[in-house]
Amino acid sequence: MSSPEVRCPRDPANVADAPCSRCGTFTCLTCAVLQEGRRLCQECVSRLRRVEGSWLAVWAGGLGFLSLGCVPLAPVAIVLAGIDFAKTRLDGERDRKALKLDALAIALGVVAIAWWVYYFTSPLSASLEGES
Ligand SMILES: [Zn+2]
Ligand SMILES: [Zn+2]
Repeated sequence: MSSPEVRCPRDPANVADAPCSRCGTFTCLTCAVLQEGRRLCQECVSRLRRVEGSWLAVWAGGLGFLSLGCVPLAPVAIVLAGIDFAKTRLDGERDRKALKLDALAIALGVVAIAWWVYYFTSPLSASLEGES
């Protein structure tokens, strides 16, 4: 007598031999991803990545806004947004919200730098600094 085999939901030809340690879904060895000693299914891996990516996007967006008042933060915001953008692209599945935040952060950073450059090269600031 043999117990009925559980099939992997992603590829029914394979036997699902162990559950995902996060959501409990049974997957085959091909689908399972070992991460920090835990066995995760594909769904959980992409879910975890998305959360991580969104965090970066939120930080980038926040720094983008702050850079309007504190220009040195602008490059940081642009770099963070760039990293998150690359991560989200590599994932295949794109999180639209995160990508929008990245684009916003880059735009704000560029505006802040442009404003800063304009301010320090404009005749107005030259006349203000004339006395030094
Ligand atoms: Zn899972
Ligand atoms: Zn599978």
